[in-house]
Amino acid sequence: MDAGTCNACSTAGAPLMKFSLGKDFFGRTYDRLSPASDQSPKWYCEPCSMMKNLQRDFRDIRAEFDKLAQGQASALSEPEAKQRAQLRLREIAAIAGSQTASSSLLNAADVKHLIDQFHASA
Ligand SMILES: [Zn+2]
Repeated sequence: MDAGTCNACSTAGAPLMKFSLGKDFFGRTYDRLSPASDQSPKWYCEPCSMMKNLQRDFRDIRAEFDKLAQGQASALSEPEAKQRAQLRLREIAAIAGSQTASSSLLNAADVKHLIDQFHASA
């Protein structure tokens, strides 16, 4: 296995971190963490590792928001969870917007769009 380059930006020679997904934004455990399902561990350099964290939370929140919008059971049904998600989205947008180079992992426009959707649903 080639652990010498970052899985996101292909940087070589930088210290790489195996991305451990841990718990998701809503406190659920990721399947990847169970060794049996972690078939292809990813390695990221430090900046990409940070973006990967943001991407993970963004995807979780968007998936739950979509469920909510479709009237399905959603982790965002709780007003508190929804508020926390909105705060996190703003944080993600701020960090993503402060990156000089756009990352392939996170699209700042997508984050902005989801924030707008949240506002529209309030
Ligand atoms: Zn990288």
